[in-house]
Amino acid sequence: MKVPLPPAPGTSKHPCLALVNSIVTLPGEHQVDELSSPENATAWLVMHHLAPEGTGLLEYCQLQLTNLRGDLRGVLESHIEGVAPDPASLDGINRALTAVPSAAPLRYQPNDGLFRVPNHPVTQLVDHAMATITEDAASLLTGPVAHRIAQCASRPCDRFMIRTHSRRQWCSERCGARQRANRAYARKQDKSSAG
Ligand SMILES: [Zn+2]
Repeated sequence: MKVPLPPAPGTSKHPCLALVNSIVTLPGEHQVDELSSPENATAWLVMHHLAPEGTGLLEYCQLQLTNLRGDLRGVLESHIEGVAPDPASLDGINRALTAVPSAAPLRYQPNDGLFRVPNHPVTQLVDHAMATITEDAASLLTGPVAHRIAQCASRPCDRFMIRTHSRRQWCSERCGARQRANRAYARKQDKSSAG
């Protein structure tokens, strides 16, 4: 299922933001996950030009991608809060960042000696996609707009974005309207309880 909101600011330029925003909680605590199955994860990669049409992800690859999403979300959150990231999440990102998709691992068998087995082609594709995503994340987090990375303030939405101006607090018009309505409601409640 596709997230029924327009892309958050910065998402179309940054595959790392597209990945972290592929899961979102909508009002009513209803969660939409675009990577909820190997088929959906495949469609997501193809849609973001991270894998060619006709790719078929395995469950293992889907899990790799959702794990990376969790690591990226964690590191982005700590960046926004200005606290140290979880070392395990940083490791996860670095593993994806430094994976060389074309390298066939070296193996040994007593009868055959040393030999190399090429990775499954789909695994290679996913490794390549994850290297692209983490390269983007690493340069975004250390680049000139790193201080503008933010999370939507209109709960329950928690999408990540790059602020287009310093006071922007929400990822979409819809979230902004909800936030304003919530504030107006809170003010009304305040008044009636005070009076
Ligand atoms: Zn939002």
